[in-house]
Amino acid sequence: MIKKKIGSKNNFRNKLPNYNPRYNFDNFIVGDNNNFAWNAAKRVSMFSQTIFNPLFIYGETGLGKTHLIQAIAHEAKRTWKKSNIEYLSCEELLNLYIGAVQNDKISDFRNRFKKVDMVLIDDIQSLAAKTKTLKEFLYIFKVLYNSNKQIVLTSDKSPSKIEYFSTNLISYFEHRLIAEIKPPTFETRLTILKNKRKSLGIKINIKILSFIADKISSNVRRLEEALIRLSAYSSITGREITMHRAKYQLYPFIKQEEKTNTSIDLIQKKVAEYYDLNVNDLTLSNSNKRITYPQMVAIYLSKEMTYASLSEIGKTFRSTSNKTIIKSINKIRKERANAFKIDNLISEIILS
Ligand code: ADP
Ligand code: MG
Repeated sequence: MIKKKIGSKNNFRNKLPNYNPRYNFDNFIVGDNNNFAWNAAKRVSMFSQTIFNPLFIYGETGLGKTHLIQAIAHEAKRTWKKSNIEYLSCEELLNLYIGAVQNDKISDFRNRFKKVDMVLIDDIQSLAAKTKTLKEFLYIFKVLYNSNKQIVLTSDKSPSKIEYFSTNLISYFEHRLIAEIKPPTFETRLTILKNKRKSLGIKINIKILSFIADKISSNVRRLEEALIRLSAYSSITGREITMHRAKYQLYPFIKQEEKTNTSIDLIQKKVAEYYDLNVNDLTLSNSNKRITYPQMVAIYLSKEMTYASLSEIGKTFRSTSNKTIIKSINKIRKERANAFKIDNLISEIILS
């Protein structure tokens, strides 16, 4: 019988860190949105001295924080082969810490970090509510900082919004550098797509790439996924990617994106244009089918594409009861499930 190995927590140290080999500086597209963070990351990865410490990179999700922090780790390791670099996601760090507390091994935990030359921790915001753990890390960071070891942190929140950090990180670490990554501009998005097109080896024309860059603006991950989706579509079906097919295939991605940008006003405007009505027609009570059907489509889209509540939607469409609203939503939803036509119609309204 094979005995199960116990104490696997202690084996954690021997595990390979979960780097993504693609997340390096060569694959990172620099634009106005991330230039400052990239520059700081490059310098920190050269490792010769700690000029910025800690380097704190923050920005919304999907904008390249993990890519950049791993690029630093890759580059530092490549340049300084003997260096002891510790890259951890916040979750891994937390597990280590909890293990240490449970097994009364806090001093081991602290010692582990004393031996490193550079420590990189991704997504530190997950610790925001865990003050005790943050305190412990801050203690470790102070030890590292005072012995001139590099610390790199990422977060989807600015440090001033992480309660414990706002007072302690900002005041203690005089050499800190806080760099924000913002959403990329259209040009940067297009460059990212061109680069991805090359690495995926797919045939897709620049007009379609521009369409994607135009429609998906807030998240690089989604931008890439859109292209991967088209690549999969074309390799599975053997079909060429035309603009019409791209629009149709990308509907769910664009819907997601529009949800953050779309207002009911915009939906009403588009639906009215599509059905050749006035925007006002959509908000009147009327029993003419020429108007009630587009009204239902607009109500349905408002539910699907915005974060408005049923009663908010109800107010906008002068349709007092939630029941009527739900009825409209269900009717169009059902039609979409049963017929291709309405699906096409809706995506055309959104994408026109
Ligand atoms: P975050 O950690 O901020 O949520 P990630 O680093 O996971 O975002 O990035 C999401 C995806 O977008 C990854 O596949 C990453 O390679 C890619 N990406 C983000 N920014 C860039 C960029 N400037 N250049 C190239 N790829 C990028
Ligand atoms: Mg990340």
